[in-house]
Amino acid sequence: MSIVTIEKCPICGSIMVKPKFICRDYLASNEDFSVYTCLQCEFLFTNNFPSNNSIGKYYDDPKYISHSDTKKGVVNKIYHFVRAYTIKQKLNFVCKQSGKQTGRILDIGCGTGYFINKAKHSGWEVVGTEKNEPARIVAVKHFGLFVKPEEHLYKFKDGSFDVITLWHVLEHLEDFNDIVEKIYDLLTPDGVAVIALPNCSSYDARHYKEYWAGYDIPRHLWHFTPKTIELFAKKFNFHIAYKKPMPFDAYYVSLLSERYKRNNLVVAAVKAMFIGAVSNIKTLIDKDKGSAMIYVLKKNQ
Ligand SMILES: [Zn+2]
Repeated sequence: MSIVTIEKCPICGSIMVKPKFICRDYLASNEDFSVYTCLQCEFLFTNNFPSNNSIGKYYDDPKYISHSDTKKGVVNKIYHFVRAYTIKQKLNFVCKQSGKQTGRILDIGCGTGYFINKAKHSGWEVVGTEKNEPARIVAVKHFGLFVKPEEHLYKFKDGSFDVITLWHVLEHLEDFNDIVEKIYDLLTPDGVAVIALPNCSSYDARHYKEYWAGYDIPRHLWHFTPKTIELFAKKFNFHIAYKKPMPFDAYYVSLLSERYKRNNLVVAAVKAMFIGAVSNIKTLIDKDKGSAMIYVLKKNQ
């Protein structure tokens, strides 16, 4: 298995990086990975992780729902119920932030294509990229969508998208710097990139520490906060035009985190409702505290 070792901060380039804590992959492998921090910009990242060529097996677990679409188990049933509602919310958000009711959308890491399928039925021209082949096949065969492997990103023409979305995807991409550079080129001058990410400076992240499901190592490589995404955006001549917390994530991530702490489902659900609610209440005072956040990036003029 080839391993990627990071010696310089992938955001600011500082060599002052050091291990911060160890996290376990509770979902698939039960292996431990170390999470590093940059002493310069405070960016948190997984280190010594399996490279693009060997990380596939960490996604193969049937519990990994965004690819397999499994409806087994209560947690997955809740996920699917909430997803139907949040997809509509996401499309409304995209329309509002882009100032358009139709246009061209590229969804990077589109999974089985639920979001772009919804957008397509609302009149958007949609394309997606997805590196997981079984998920891509569902998107193409089940929804008849134009969904290509990840490398296809470099085949699209510059300036050809009004909106590019990455719903909980950027944190998975080994070459995230190259991809955001490419996103800049692919967007029209007034285009928007909509990026949803877990927030490791949220209340629930602080509460669950290394059990926090938002770390999801080694599938999540980069652990952003509102502060570090701002630095990252700036590096590519973007700015954060808008940001908002994603309230459902606080409950879902808390529920998974409680399960990782080996609580039975009833105890986990009760505790997760409480922690999720506290996390959401905290966002009323400081919206940067959301368990997960949506960021809207626009090009600097
Ligand atoms: Zn740094």
